[in-house]
Amino acid sequence: VNEFELIARYFTRPPASPAVVLGVGDDAALLAPTPGHVVVAAVDMLVGGRHFLLDAEPEALGHKSLAVNLSDIAAMGATPRWALLAVALPRDDPAWLAAFARGLYALADAHGVELVGGDTTRGPLNLCVTILGEVPVGHAVTRAGARTGDDVYVSGALGDAALAVAAQAGRVALAAEVLAACRVRLDRPIPRVELGTRLRGLATAMIDVSDGLTGDLGHILDASAAGAVLELDAVPRSRALAARLAGPERALALQCLLAGGDDYELCFTAPPAAAAPIAALARDVGIPLTRIGAIRAQRGLVVRDEAGVAVDLPRAYDHFAPGAA
Ligand code: ADP
Ligand code: MG
Repeated sequence: VNEFELIARYFTRPPASPAVVLGVGDDAALLAPTPGHVVVAAVDMLVGGRHFLLDAEPEALGHKSLAVNLSDIAAMGATPRWALLAVALPRDDPAWLAAFARGLYALADAHGVELVGGDTTRGPLNLCVTILGEVPVGHAVTRAGARTGDDVYVSGALGDAALAVAAQAGRVALAAEVLAACRVRLDRPIPRVELGTRLRGLATAMIDVSDGLTGDLGHILDASAAGAVLELDAVPRSRALAARLAGPERALALQCLLAGGDDYELCFTAPPAAAAPIAALARDVGIPLTRIGAIRAQRGLVVRDEAGVAVDLPRAYDHFAPGAA
């Protein structure tokens, strides 16, 4: 099939919402944002062999390439609406494309997101989704709003995706069912979209945990010109990770929990007065929201261990750090 047949077959569906004035097929899409809202835009690129293995399951890749973008929109307190997909494919592989499209559309449909355009080219496997969302004017939750005395929270549990990566690299051995559970966290992250919008008016600052808790919270601290103290004990973790934190694999477990990345949970700050509504929200959405520390005026991030001693913070992954492969 040629490029246009491929686009028509796998990436074209009639627009479901009147807000898509013109979707796939013209030089550009025409979109009608809701009056009184600002458009929120983000893009994330997944490179084959770097962000995922080249033999990764295509349906999971379709899911993840959209999920990581939905997570960015959620972290602004915004509602995702439209996506554009730029793909480079080594070859026209119908089974691969059908599975990829299935994974992408399933997650898009679950959130009412429409694919309105993209670009398709031959080349080393590369998946790049641009996401557009909207949020009422003045209500976006940025990284810059944390205030001294605010509590620091995180949703869900951290570190299991990184534990799966460590297992893949042979750095830790996991029982089959534990590895399977960690792989789901790595391959099919669940973006906290509803949670993000419902934190509007409660959270003072927010970020999604894609590169690891300490690095990502560090971005909030930099943007807010503040510091924070976290209690290691409080950072939510799976039983598999908890067991390793207490044993000889503690260093690896700490790295996964605090700097692992690929969690796609939300980290946010809120004043103590918001504690009760946040607890109610957690029950309502069925996602644990755990207070892990507090914002203070003194700059820098300190994580205190079980004995109250500051932990040596593991470094977050940086694609451009000297020596990064
Ligand atoms: P142009 O040459 O103007 O960039 P293209 O031939 O690249 O147009 O694309 C034709 C139409 O198909 C455009 O509307 C574009 O947005 C859409 N499109 C191309 N690739 C994809 C894709 N992978 N997913 C969704 N829409 C796509
Ligand atoms: Mg094009």
